[in-house]
Amino acid sequence: MSGAETKTSESETDDGGRDFVRDLIRADLASGRTAAVVTRFPPEPNGYLHIGHAKSICLNFGAAAEFGGRCNLRFDDTNPVKEEQAFIEAIEADVRWLGFDWGVHLHCASDYFVQLYEWAEHLIRAGKAYVDDLSADEIRAHRGTLTEPGREGPYRDRSVPENLDLLRRMRAGEFADGARVLRAKIDMASGNINLRDPVMYRIVHADHPRTGTQWCIYPTYDYAHGQSDAIEGVTHSLCTLEFEDHRPLYDWFIENLPVPSRPRQYEFARLNLSYTMLSKRRLTELVRGAHVADWDDPRMPTLAGLRRRGFPAAAIRDFAGRIGVAKANSTVDVALLEHCARELLNRTAERRMAVLRPLKVVIENYPEHETDTLDAINNPEDPGAGTRPVPFSRVLYIERDDFMEDPPKKFFRLAPGREARLRYAYLVTCREAVKDAAGEVVELRCTYDPESRGGTASDGRKVKATLHWVSAEHAIEAEVRLYDHLFTRPDPGADGDFRDDLNPDSLTVLERCKLEPALAAMPPETVVQFERQGYFCLDPETTPERPVFNRTVALRDTWAKVKARDGG
Ligand code: ATP
Ligand code: MG
Repeated sequence: MSGAETKTSESETDDGGRDFVRDLIRADLASGRTAAVVTRFPPEPNGYLHIGHAKSICLNFGAAAEFGGRCNLRFDDTNPVKEEQAFIEAIEADVRWLGFDWGVHLHCASDYFVQLYEWAEHLIRAGKAYVDDLSADEIRAHRGTLTEPGREGPYRDRSVPENLDLLRRMRAGEFADGARVLRAKIDMASGNINLRDPVMYRIVHADHPRTGTQWCIYPTYDYAHGQSDAIEGVTHSLCTLEFEDHRPLYDWFIENLPVPSRPRQYEFARLNLSYTMLSKRRLTELVRGAHVADWDDPRMPTLAGLRRRGFPAAAIRDFAGRIGVAKANSTVDVALLEHCARELLNRTAERRMAVLRPLKVVIENYPEHETDTLDAINNPEDPGAGTRPVPFSRVLYIERDDFMEDPPKKFFRLAPGREARLRYAYLVTCREAVKDAAGEVVELRCTYDPESRGGTASDGRKVKATLHWVSAEHAIEAEVRLYDHLFTRPDPGADGDFRDDLNPDSLTVLERCKLEPALAAMPPETVVQFERQGYFCLDPETTPERPVFNRTVALRDTWAKVKARDGG
């Protein structure tokens, strides 16, 4: 188990603790190298944000806030073919929901298209960029490999006027997609492939969500990114490890252009999560292939999916704090994310009773048409949450699993002749199990002890089991959706197509569940605990006729088990 996984001491309330990024910032501020911290979160609007992005958001916005600086939200919108306005809006909503605010600092790489273009001409004039007519395949063939140097192409030594003329005509729309590119002229023999004359501009005749038809050449991410940081005065440009090899290229651009500031890039490990795929490309495939309902399917690791599933934003921030920020890649156990939700919800969520797989119970000695109103505690962890009335009557539902006709030794719940406690109500004894023609138990005939109101026997006899229940006549019927991991293995796709690892049981839909009446008045985005079951919230597909609940997490904490096993 990696250090990142076992680290549990930090919480969202401290100053973010120590990690190498915060240590760097602290040192830069102390030495005067940095006057005020500026970071940025730079998503490409080609999909929804996922829990991996949350790590980056919490780091960038969190560290900036802790050190009195600011964090920009910048859309890296350089590829109009894959980007959409709808994604821009979803990303803004998700960052806000996670609890962060960019104030007036909402930017887009496309804001800098004119400046980036002027700097491209600047590099041409300095003899440091050229227009190449090679096709994409030819460029690849010239690039060489990790062990072989690249080869210079026939267009590399074009004159400055010819390069300027061709770039301007590229911009004016004279050429077809892919006919030419602008490349930086660095070193085809460099040991770092990123420095072998990387592409700066490509021709793409496509409308852009923000600049419309103004451009038909678009800067590459590698050319746009560092200059965007420089324009915004970003001091600490934090990105994931796979960009470490790109840093010399970013630095080359910064050194060769009259940029207004010099950002420095630092790389940290991306979040990998067991049983989960964190790649927008893969998540797009799940949506397009209809393997999930949409980007906000509660089984998706997207922020929209987690939110719909009932994960509180504070639990995600807590998770980000606990996994910390490290230099080495590792995989975090998804059970830790669930643990963070459980721990928070245990403190904050009100308790309710809901019977998911109902079995009818008739209390034979309880009068017909009578209702008793009992007091149920809303949250034992929070006395201030008070109590609520729960109606009790002659016909009830209990959980099918809470009865066994022929119980094994350690089963203490209901069985013929056995007594159990109905939470907040009475002690009841099972007298008979009624079966249908197929031999299945369809109803229990029970009696109750009228002297046990509240759930304690007046003669002090001990009753082990406490069951949840719902009065039939007062029950609300609802659909309840139970979720399991979307994939059956911790490393989906490791042995081939990730679609082969999809879990066929990732969603279980239970219809006609019986809920206590207080659940009729649930505001959206609140999470409650169904006693003995887990945490649940209303799904947006709820209608007045058919409430729909999502299970956020079950009560059983597999993370606690993992920790106990590892001695953490
Ligand atoms: P994906 O790899 O899922 O396709 P991406 O890196 O292409 O994501 P961007 O929109 O470019 O997505 O990412 C925005 C920021 O989020 C980047 O700075 C990137 O480094 C960071 N980021 C993306 N995935 C992760 C992750 N799994 N863990 C931490 N940070 C991440
Ligand atoms: Mg990316």
